[in-house]
Amino acid sequence: MAKLNLAIYWSASCGGCDVAILDINEKILQVAEIADIVFWPIALDFKRHHVEAMEDKSIDVCLFNGAVRTSEQEEMAELLRAKSKAMVAFGSCAHLGGIPGLSNFTNRAETFERAFIEAQSCDNPDKTLPQTMTKVAEGELELPEFYDTVKALDQVVDVEYYIPGCPPTVPIISQVVDALATGQLPPVGTVFGSDKALCDECPRTKEEKKITKIYRPHEIIPDPEKCLLEQGIICMGPATRGGCEARCIAANMPCRGCFGPPPGVTDQGAHMLSALASILDVTEDEDIARMTDEIADPAGTFYRFGLPTAMMNRRRM
Ligand code: SF4
Ligand code: SF4
Repeated sequence: MAKLNLAIYWSASCGGCDVAILDINEKILQVAEIADIVFWPIALDFKRHHVEAMEDKSIDVCLFNGAVRTSEQEEMAELLRAKSKAMVAFGSCAHLGGIPGLSNFTNRAETFERAFIEAQSCDNPDKTLPQTMTKVAEGELELPEFYDTVKALDQVVDVEYYIPGCPPTVPIISQVVDALATGQLPPVGTVFGSDKALCDECPRTKEEKKITKIYRPHEIIPDPEKCLLEQGIICMGPATRGGCEARCIAANMPCRGCFGPPPGVTDQGAHMLSALASILDVTEDEDIARMTDEIADPAGTFYRFGLPTAMMNRRRM
């Protein structure tokens, strides 16, 4: 089989997805056997003009990690789309918008105010904010435009495959490498992972117990054998695609939902709210209000990884 041309790009994300690729350890040698890496700016000195010079569709697979929030990221998504046969949304930010997508609760002006003026670590007495064009003695400096709204990759360009996770797990990346090596790629639109909710692969005992109090993870030490949700800790398992082998649960921590909604669920947060409401053992208004207050950050809890792709995907400013 001819070697594949592989591109890897880092957009609006923390960089963990690039590290996750290296986490596959010796399997990276198999990647080298089956593919020539033609673009991977974090690892090798590739420039944008190298991609521009490529023939359209000359890249076989592009693993694109990160959401799209600047004009440069949008241009790179469009450029790589034109040059690639298969575009893969790699990781939660490209798949769903991810943690950067939480800034859809605000806009550029408020984000800049917080990041460059209010933040305790800032020393910016002149309140200088990033500009798209700045004149200096040597000429003009240009920065990409920072958009008000963060988007998932498929809200900008067509995407063939999705690899979920923050970051994707080693077994799933290995599964993708094997699929590439054998040429046996699944149908377009496939999300690598389980077709069931995480609760289906969770080994914890479920007793269909109702709850009267919600705890944050640091407030109690949960029983490691029993369902976290039934102990009052919000675990996103009922509203999250399985396939990660319940790795957070194994560390006695609740699922935060990074694999996105299971098949058939359009809105992960609404699905989780419904699951949570069904196990509350309260009827009085004051108890419902108290439990609502016990959820410290409802929007951030239920839409931590998927706000840009949720039914209501940003706050109206
Ligand atoms: S809610 Fe969480 S702890 Fe409970 S069964 Fe589902 S994944 Fe496991
Ligand atoms: S348990 Fe949930 S948050 Fe943790 S890796 Fe799995 S899907 Fe992601």
